[in-house]
Amino acid sequence: MSFITLTWLTLLFIFSSLRFAWWRIPPSLSRPRILMYHMIEPHRPDHQLNAYRVSPDTFELHLKWITKNNWTTYTISEYQILNKKPKKSLCLTFDDGFGSLFTNAFPLLKKYNCKATIYLVPDRQTNVWDLGIEKDGTSLLTKEQIQELSHSGLVEFGSHTATHADLKQADIHRIKHELMASKKKIENLVNQPCRSFAYPYGRFTKQSISWVKEAAYKTAVTTRPGIADFNNPYQLNRINMHGFDTFFDFYLRLTRGKNKL
Ligand SMILES: [Zn+2]
Repeated sequence: MSFITLTWLTLLFIFSSLRFAWWRIPPSLSRPRILMYHMIEPHRPDHQLNAYRVSPDTFELHLKWITKNNWTTYTISEYQILNKKPKKSLCLTFDDGFGSLFTNAFPLLKKYNCKATIYLVPDRQTNVWDLGIEKDGTSLLTKEQIQELSHSGLVEFGSHTATHADLKQADIHRIKHELMASKKKIENLVNQPCRSFAYPYGRFTKQSISWVKEAAYKTAVTTRPGIADFNNPYQLNRINMHGFDTFFDFYLRLTRGKNKL
C-alpha cells in the first residue's frame, strides 16, 4: 500500500469516526432512552423543517429494530412510577401533536404494540409558531383524533403549553396560565390526568422549572441531547430523531445517546 493511499485511508477513518461516534462507550442498558420525534411524514420539497420530518418508512424501521432487540416502550408517566425499572426501557415522545401522528404513526404504534407520549398545544390548530420558517402551516391533531389515540391505551398526552409559549420570554402570569390552562384542557379532552410536560423550544430556567412543578406536572422533557436521568425528572434529556439521519445514526443515538462527537 502506498503512502498516499495509507494517508487517505487514515483521513477517511478519522473523518468517519467524527461523523459517526461508534467509539463512544454505550451508557448502561439500565438507563432509559427517551426518543424525541416531531412529524412522521415524508419530506416536503424545499421546506425548512424537514429535519423534524421522519418518514413513515424510517419510523417503521425504528420500531422494528426496537422490538426485535427487546426494548420495551413505556409512556413517560408509566415509566416514572415503575418501582423496579427494567433494562432496555424506552419512551417514544412526540412534540407539538402533529396530525401525521394519527395518520402515519398510530397505525405503526398499533402494529408493533409500542407506547408513546405526545405533547399537545391545545389552543393551536397548526404550528403557527413556525410560520417564520415555513409559509404553510402543518395541521395538529384534532380533538377526535386525540380521543381515539387515548382510547387505544398506547398513548399518554402531556402538555407543551397552551400556545407553544417560550417560557424564557413570557411573563409570569402568562406562563402560569399556559401551564394550568393547557393541563386542564388536556385532562378534560382525554379524561385522564395530564402529568407530563415538554418545554417549548427546549427553553427553560430555574424559575420555570418551579412553575412546572407548582402546576402539578410530574416530569418535564427538554431538548438537551443525551440519556435521561429520572432522578432529575424536570430536566429529562432526550435523543433527537433527526429527519436527515441514516439508520446507523439512529442506532448510535439510541445505544450511545449521541451519534456525533
Ligand atoms: Zn414544540
